[in-house]
Amino acid sequence: MGKFEIQPVPCLRDNYAWLAFDRDEGVCAVVDPSEAKPVMRALETHGLTLTHILNTHHHPDHVGGNLELQAKFGAVIVGPGKDKARIPGIGVGVVENDSYAAGSHVAKVLEIPAHTRGHIAFWFEQDKAVFTGDTLFAMGCGRLFEGDPPTMWNSLSKLVHLPDDTRVYCGHEYTEANGRFALSVEGGNPELVRRMAEVRAIRAQGLPTLPSNIGIEKKTNPFLRASSLEIRRSLGLQDADDVEVFAETRRRKDSFQG
Ligand code: ZN
Ligand code: FE
Repeated sequence: MGKFEIQPVPCLRDNYAWLAFDRDEGVCAVVDPSEAKPVMRALETHGLTLTHILNTHHHPDHVGGNLELQAKFGAVIVGPGKDKARIPGIGVGVVENDSYAAGSHVAKVLEIPAHTRGHIAFWFEQDKAVFTGDTLFAMGCGRLFEGDPPTMWNSLSKLVHLPDDTRVYCGHEYTEANGRFALSVEGGNPELVRRMAEVRAIRAQGLPTLPSNIGIEKKTNPFLRASSLEIRRSLGLQDADDVEVFAETRRRKDSFQG
């Protein structure tokens, strides 16, 4: 197995498509291409030919570049089997526990519904990387468009159980805004305070705050921290169960003016 390099391709306003490639094997995947043009430019810059398109979910800001990239490179499109009808150009539908190999790099598929019914993550266990789309963000989680809080809590729990050193590649640069909300419910978390100082410095230079990793998210992401006493006190939910705390955290974030 050669080196698996992963590079961000900024798209639209705050999306990232990700190029994941192994030069020795001639394998190059793009994850969630919102638009084709910036991806084509990045491929040219890096001297790469696209072989795979991986989609975490059907939203236009994740699949908008599918057909144009497929027409140009003949790349195979891999996406959620349960949402095939909504993924343009899909060739391979994958479901929970499937393995999909791009060359020698194997992605395990985790079904993580709630942002959309069909949302999946691609977990490259050997390469210690997971593509989480709009389900797990740095210090945040996606909105619940097609699932309830218990469903999202269950989806996030799958990701939390990945090894701490698994790098997290998500679909948007929402980190700083997410962190402002996180501080509003857990300002006494020193790891969170430290991370936000770092994030502000990185964003001041206009650079990506990603990838994160599972270990850092467990320490700083309020949506994974329903057991935190400070968060529970902030929400007035000392005795609630974790799913209720998660649900209230998500509701507060929906109306947060940060
Ligand atoms: Zn989305
Ligand atoms: Fe999105």
